[in-house]
Formats: sequence, C-alpha cells, structure tokens
Amino acid sequence: MKYYILNRGDQYSQELTQTFKTLARQRGLIWDQEEPDIVVTVGGDGTMLQAFHTFSDQLDRLAFVGIHTGHLGFYADWKPSELHQLVERMSDPDTRLEQHVVKYPIAEVQINRIDESLTYYALNELTLRGIHATLVVQLNVNDQRFETFRGDGICISTPSGSTAYNKSAGGAIIHPSLETIQIAEIASINNKVYRSLGSSMILPKHHHCDLYPKANQKILLSIDHLKFEYDDIISIRAMVGDKKVRFARFRPFPFWNRVKEAFIGDGE
Ligand code: NAP
Ligand code: MN
Repeated sequence: MKYYILNRGDQYSQELTQTFKTLARQRGLIWDQEEPDIVVTVGGDGTMLQAFHTFSDQLDRLAFVGIHTGHLGFYADWKPSELHQLVERMSDPDTRLEQHVVKYPIAEVQINRIDESLTYYALNELTLRGIHATLVVQLNVNDQRFETFRGDGICISTPSGSTAYNKSAGGAIIHPSLETIQIAEIASINNKVYRSLGSSMILPKHHHCDLYPKANQKILLSIDHLKFEYDDIISIRAMVGDKKVRFARFRPFPFWNRVKEAFIGDGE
C-alpha cells in the first residue's frame, strides 16, 4: 500500500507525521507523493480540504483518512491515540481497501468568465459574496429563473459540507448518503422591493442551478478554503458532481454520531 501524508504545519501535527512515517516504514508501507492509494491528513478539516484539492485529479482511485490534532473533525475523525491502529489497518495484508471505503458526493462548479471557463470540485461548498456592496445575483434552477437574491451571499454546499458554512447560514444537515446540493442564503435582504425564498433549498442529482451576478459587480467566490476575486463572471453553475470523494473508514463512526459529538457533546 502506497500512502502520502500531509499536515497543518503546527509542531504537534508535524511530530505526529514523523511518528506515522516511522511506524509506516516499519510496517512496510511505501511513501509515494505521485500516486498514493491513501492520503493521510494530520490537523483539522481544513487540512483535509487542502488534501482534497491537491489530489482532486485522482479522486477515482485514492482514498483519504484524517487524524485530528485539535477538536474532532468531520473529515479528520481519527484521534492521535489511534495512530498505531490506523497504521496496522493500512498495512494488514488482509485489508482490502475497497471494503473500507465510503463515498461521499461532491459538488461540481463551472465558472464561466468572459474569456474562459473553469471547472472545480468542492468538498464543502462554494460561496458567492459581494466585495464592495451587497451581492445581487439571479438564481436559475434547471434553466428557469427562480429569484433575484440580494444580501451578503449564497452558499451551495455538499452533504458533508452541510456541517460547515451551511450550518452557520441556517441550512439543514444532510446525510452524505444523499446525493444533493443545498442552496442557503447568507443574510438576504427581504422587504417590499427585494424578495428571495428565505429558506434553503435542496437539489437532487441531475438538477443544476446557475448564478448570474449583476454585471460589473466585484465578487468573491470561495470554493472550500480557496478564494477568487472576479469582476467578469457571466455565470456559475453548480450541481452534484459526477465523481465522489472516497474516505477509508477502517472502523465505523456513523455521521450522526460525529454530528452529536461535534455539536451537542455528551451532556444531558
Ligand atoms: P477555517 O476558517 O479554519 O475553518 C472554519 C471552521 O470550519 C474550522 O473550525 C474548520 O475545522 C471547520 N470546518 C471545515 N470543514 C468542515 C465541515 N465539513 N464540517 C464542520 N466543520 C468544518 O478555514 P479552513 O479550515 O480552511 O476551512 C474552510 C471552511 O471554513 C469552508 O469550507 C467553510 O465551510 C468554513 N467557513 C465557515 C464560515 C462560517 O461558518 N461562518 C465562514 C467561513 C468559512 P478545522 O478547525 O478542523 O479546520
Ligand atoms: Mn481550519
């Protein structure tokens, strides 16, 4: 089994990375930067976002595993104390990676600018926000005009991203077995003149939505932790991606348990 490991860069995450590499070498795992079977992250969910974008061209073949060195993460859900156990699972000759992989939907984002078109995949979400003024954007669903949104921004999230920015925007938490994207408003202006839906909407696979920002508007587009500033966007299309991201689970940790541990805790 070939692996690659990346970390958040703080001292603890770096030390843990060294420990992992030593154990991995002893157990015959091969470090491979180009075509690993498993990408291990040490840090937080943000570290997983970086790993996802580093290897987004190999999503079909590799699987991710996250170790958290801070609070429990949604992607980074292995404790530092479980490091030995993880290396053992990865190096066990009886381990068939395919049997331990869970697949989560991701979002496909097509950015149409005046003279180029770009495609990205988002693990958490894309957001569109105004830079100097309120964002004004027309939202079409399946090529039909739905509304013109005015406010701070729009967040379009994946199921596994629903616990991130989407949650702060008041969106629902979606189980990653559902192939959907969720459109949530960020502080919309609603009065006699401006009107948008107000609640979040969930689109199934094979539906798509397009955002048409008002002409010449300076906008901030984020795709996970990546940020882009544009003033020449014609439209941005979002839909459930044709690919999925693969996580090597090795041991059960149900999504709703992670939600409870992260947001509710053990109290009454
Ligand atoms: P960051 O500012 O360090 O991340 C913000 C927080 O979001 C961190 O606590 C991060 O966890 C957590 N997070 C990331 N993915 C998550 C997920 N799927 N479920 C629950 N929490 C999650 O920046 P970053 O680490 O590069 O992460 C970028 C993400 O931050 C974006 O994708 C967006 O979802 C989120 N964000 C949220 C808000 C908001 O809620 N108002 C605003 C901006 C960005 P770790 O500490 O483990 O990294
Ligand atoms: Mn972070």
